[in-house]
Amino acid sequence: MGKPRVFSGMRPTGRLQLGNYFGALKSWVDMQDDYECYFGVVDWHALTTGYEDTSEIRENTREMVIDWLSAGLDPEKSVIIRQSDIKEHAELQLLFSMITPLGWLERCPTYKEQLHQLEGRDIMTYGFLGYPVLMAADILAYKAEAVPVGEDQLPHVELTREIARRFNFLYKPVFPEPQALLNRDVTLLPGIDGRKMSKSYGNYILMSAEAKDVEERVGMMVTDPERIRRTDPGHPDVCTVYAFHKVFSKDELPQIEADCTGARVGCVECKRRLARALNQVLEPIREKRRALMANPDLVEDILRDGARKARAVAGRTLEEVRSAMRI
Ligand code: SF4
Repeated sequence: MGKPRVFSGMRPTGRLQLGNYFGALKSWVDMQDDYECYFGVVDWHALTTGYEDTSEIRENTREMVIDWLSAGLDPEKSVIIRQSDIKEHAELQLLFSMITPLGWLERCPTYKEQLHQLEGRDIMTYGFLGYPVLMAADILAYKAEAVPVGEDQLPHVELTREIARRFNFLYKPVFPEPQALLNRDVTLLPGIDGRKMSKSYGNYILMSAEAKDVEERVGMMVTDPERIRRTDPGHPDVCTVYAFHKVFSKDELPQIEADCTGARVGCVECKRRLARALNQVLEPIREKRRALMANPDLVEDILRDGARKARAVAGRTLEEVRSAMRI
């Protein structure tokens, strides 16, 4: 028995922030020994909501892959691809689009949510409505048995299963019904202003941030609003700095809590402590990034090699699909 195969992807958003690292990338790195992993930069997905300005997709892809490698994704263990290099994804998406009822897509909760969130942007397009079909093609081109996802992506995995089931029923059993692999250790880090960490809010810390930037961003974090003077006892549970300490200073947590509630430490010192802890975790990632940047061809070489391996697998799947459909 081989290892179970997984596929997961990220849109090319450029350098990743800590929220991306703890929300997904770290779990990808941890999966590499137990699963046969396919990880993709899903650049066609970026077009579904941002088709007008494509100027940064290539560079964003490169920066993101460097972050993946800096965090520990290993091209010797995982197949790392750029979606648009593997045309089989597009062919499979086209074939799936023939058998996917419109109602399945219109009912998709993420579709409605995004229409609402991206109000003002012209995304009433065929491509945007159909992006879960493309996602199903990304996964099923490799006959992945599992898909590591966050809770918000569960409806897409369910739709992928439905499409696989419908295909198997209409033609021949070709596809597995992939399981969602919920990332249970996901650590939700707030942004420095206490809202969800997001590039669009400008409240993020990059995982590749230099030590000085980390100190600066931590210095800007919002703390307990009721703690006005140094002598006021603090409430760590409402403090963004403390939310970070929970991740980066686990061993010292009881002490930090006692120092805050007992007004024994000021917020400036508490933030300095956090910046030190954060920099300790990020330094090896930064160091690896610097080494990787020294080779300008590295990312393209890795993506070329990944595409070669991925095409071999996806090509076989498509042969089976064409034969099952008798085309
Ligand atoms: S002492 Fe630390 S945990 Fe307490 S409010 Fe200030 S920054 Fe937050």
